[in-house]
Amino acid sequence: NTGRVLSIQSHTVQGYVGNKSAVFPLQLLGYDVDPINSVQFSNHTGYPTFKGQVLNGRELLDLIEGLEANNLLYYTHLLTGYIGSDSFLNSVLEVVNKLRTINPNLTYVCDPVMGDEGKLYVPEDLISVYREKVVPVASMLTPNHFEAELLTKLRIGSETDGRKACNILHAAGPAKVVITSINIDGCLLLIGSHLKDKKQPPEQFKIVIPRIPAYFTGTGDLMTALLLGWSNKFPDNLDKAAELAVSSLQALLQRTLNDYTSAGFDSKSSSLEIRLIQSQDDIREPKLAFK
Ligand code: ADP
Ligand code: MG
Ligand code: MG
Repeated sequence: NTGRVLSIQSHTVQGYVGNKSAVFPLQLLGYDVDPINSVQFSNHTGYPTFKGQVLNGRELLDLIEGLEANNLLYYTHLLTGYIGSDSFLNSVLEVVNKLRTINPNLTYVCDPVMGDEGKLYVPEDLISVYREKVVPVASMLTPNHFEAELLTKLRIGSETDGRKACNILHAAGPAKVVITSINIDGCLLLIGSHLKDKKQPPEQFKIVIPRIPAYFTGTGDLMTALLLGWSNKFPDNLDKAAELAVSSLQALLQRTLNDYTSAGFDSKSSSLEIRLIQSQDDIREPKLAFK
């Protein structure tokens, strides 16, 4: 079970975030992936400096018009990640509408990237656009802890809170919600929730992930791509899709940490570039290690 994915995310010349993190793994899982680069930067913005260009909303719609004029706008999936401005986000909403007029069954997988660990890294006015306009049209949503709190206005301090947040998000739109990690006593808790029938409560599950004492970039982008890839192959088993995604990702993070450590690098001093290419076997055929 495969498809054709339009992926609107950042591009970095060196390193792995945004499309650089998402396109290759989706291709490994057998998808055609058409990337639109919302920015092109030399490297991710966690480095001391970066240079590059930002695509604006008008330029995004230009590319879409070009595709449409050649009847190339049929997609099974739309994937979006970090979006830095209100105008770009509104153009993305136009893209969702347009893709759905061509394929009413389009799956929109939205990673509502707004911040992490209490810090916002988009303008504040984007929060309400996500909450009021984007969440309602998303098929699957993959917020982290902080983003789930911003979208639901709920403080999430326990597994029960996480499940409640998923219910709130279902009521706003998406049938599938994965809170990719809730930080609880040194562990990461993933909460997944699939609303299969609006008259029934959603099917919910959790995965406990031991926290690796290092900071990685691009992991959220990779996680959402893997969740798209696997949940499309197992449409009625979000739990299985999440187990596969987490198993791949944890194998990759372990490899990344080992490579840095064996090179004598202090893995706590700065964020680590993920070893994406070296982990391709773990992406193609993950060994299930998380339940
Ligand atoms: P984001 O990058 O959007 O903040 P998360 O922090 O939830 O998203 O990370 C996405 C996934 O990456 C998590 O579900 C977890 O599997 C993995 N991950 C990220 N950082 C770590 C870490 N330090 N230790 C273990 N797993 C991690
Ligand atoms: Mg995080
Ligand atoms: Mg994220």
